[in-house]
Amino acid sequence: MLNTIINLSEFILLNLYLKVAMSILFIVSAILFLNMKSIANTSKSINTIKANELVEIIKLDSTIKLDIRYATKNNFLSRAVYKLSKAYLQKPVAEELISINKEVKSRGYGLLVFDGYRPWSVTKIFWDEVDPEKRQFVANPTTGSIHNRGCAVDLTLYELASGKEVKMPCEYDTFSEKAYPSYTGGTKEERKQRDFLIKVMEQHNFKVHPKEWWHFDHKDCDLYSILDVPFEEL
Ligand SMILES: [Zn+2]
Repeated sequence: MLNTIINLSEFILLNLYLKVAMSILFIVSAILFLNMKSIANTSKSINTIKANELVEIIKLDSTIKLDIRYATKNNFLSRAVYKLSKAYLQKPVAEELISINKEVKSRGYGLLVFDGYRPWSVTKIFWDEVDPEKRQFVANPTTGSIHNRGCAVDLTLYELASGKEVKMPCEYDTFSEKAYPSYTGGTKEERKQRDFLIKVMEQHNFKVHPKEWWHFDHKDCDLYSILDVPFEEL
C-alpha cells in the first residue's frame, strides 16, 4: 500500500516535471520564432535604405555659387556651426540640381546654394537655441530633417551678368510669413523671381517648403537615412 502511494506521488511529480519541461520548450520556441522574424524584417529595411553617396555640389558644376551662411556668423544664431564652407547632397539629388542650373542659365540666372546636407547634431543645435516661438521654422531633431538625409537644399538665384543675388520677397532664413511661398507682399518683380525658382525646382522633382521659399525637398528623400557625419569627414 505504501509502495503504491510512493509510486503514485512519483508519477505525479514526473508528470509535473514533464509539463514544466514542455512549457519551457514552448516559450523558447516562441522566442526563437519571434527573433527570426525580427531579423528578417531588419534585413528587409536595410535593403530598402539607400547607401549614403554624398557629393560636393560644386565638384559636379563649378558655376553653382555657394553662400554657406552656417559656416559664418551671418545666420540666425550669429555664430558659425559648420567648420567648412561646403555643400553636399546625395548624388542623384545633386545631379538633378545640375540640370536645373543648366535650365536657369538659359534665362540669365545661376543657382546660389545656402545649404545642402546638414549633420543631425546641427539640427539639434538649431532646435535647442532658436526662440521657442520660432521653432516652427526649424526641424525637430526627434524626427530629423530632410537636410540630415542629404536630400534637401536651401538656395536662391543669382544674375549671371552681374553675379548678384536676385531679390526675393525676403532674405534667406527670415522667420516670418514673408518667407511663405504664398506670401503676396514684396514687389511684383520679387514675387515673379521667387515663383520662377519654385516652378523650375518643382519641374525637377523638388518640392518647396510651405513656409520657406528657399527650401526644397527632393521626392526620393525617404530612401536615405539620417546622418550625423561632419563635413570634415566626408
Ligand atoms: Zn532648408
